[in-house]
Amino acid sequence: MNLWMQPLGPIQTNGYVLSNDKGEAIIFDPGMNPEPMLEHIADLQVKAILLTHAHFDHIGGLEKVRQVTKAPVYIHDLEAEWLTDPAQNGSLRWEMITGPISCQPRDKALRDGDLLVIAGFQIEVIHTPGHSPGSVSFYLSEPGILIAGDTLFQNSIGRTDLPGGDYDTLMTSLRDRIMVLPEEIKVYPGHGPATTIQQELAFNPFISGR
Ligand SMILES: [Zn+2]
Ligand SMILES: [Zn+2]
Repeated sequence: MNLWMQPLGPIQTNGYVLSNDKGEAIIFDPGMNPEPMLEHIADLQVKAILLTHAHFDHIGGLEKVRQVTKAPVYIHDLEAEWLTDPAQNGSLRWEMITGPISCQPRDKALRDGDLLVIAGFQIEVIHTPGHSPGSVSFYLSEPGILIAGDTLFQNSIGRTDLPGGDYDTLMTSLRDRIMVLPEEIKVYPGHGPATTIQQELAFNPFISGR
C-alpha cells in the first residue's frame, strides 16, 4: 500500500493516489494543475477517480487525469451537475485564479453508506455535507485512513460561506459521522497536513470532544 499526496495548483489542493502492490491505484481529487500526479501514475493502473466534492480547485485537473487514465469518475448525486457547470463549481466566481471549468458528466454515483471495492481496497462512502451539499468522506478501515475533502482540517474545519454551505450541517456531519471514527484513524484533508481523529478531538477549536 502506498499513499501519495501532493498539494496541486494555486489553492494548494491535496491530490491523493492510493496504490496497491500490483500497481493498481485510486485517485482521490485530482486538484488543479495535476502534472505531478500524472507523473506519479505513469506506471500505475488507475481504476477509479473518486471526488470528495466538485469545487473547482478539486476538479480543475479532472479531464486531464481522465484522458490519461480512462478511469470512471465518481461523485455524489448532489454535485453531479457541478462538474459540468462552471457557475456551480465556483470557477466563474474566481476568475482571477482560473478560467471556467466544465468537465464531462460523471460516470458513477456515490451514496451514503456505499461500500466500494476497488483495487482490493474497501472504501466506505460517508456523506458529510456542510462545506458543500454533496461533500463525502472516504473511509478505509484498512489501512485506517479517511480522505476528508474540505470537511475537517488540522485544527480547523471547512468554510461554510460558499453556495450550498451550512455551518450547522457541517457540525452535524463532524459530530455524528467523522469524530465517531476510531481515534487512531489518519485523516487526509483537502488542504494542509494530515492529522488524526485523536489529534483533532484534543486540539481542534471547533470540536468539543465526543
Ligand atoms: Zn471545497
Ligand atoms: Zn478545497
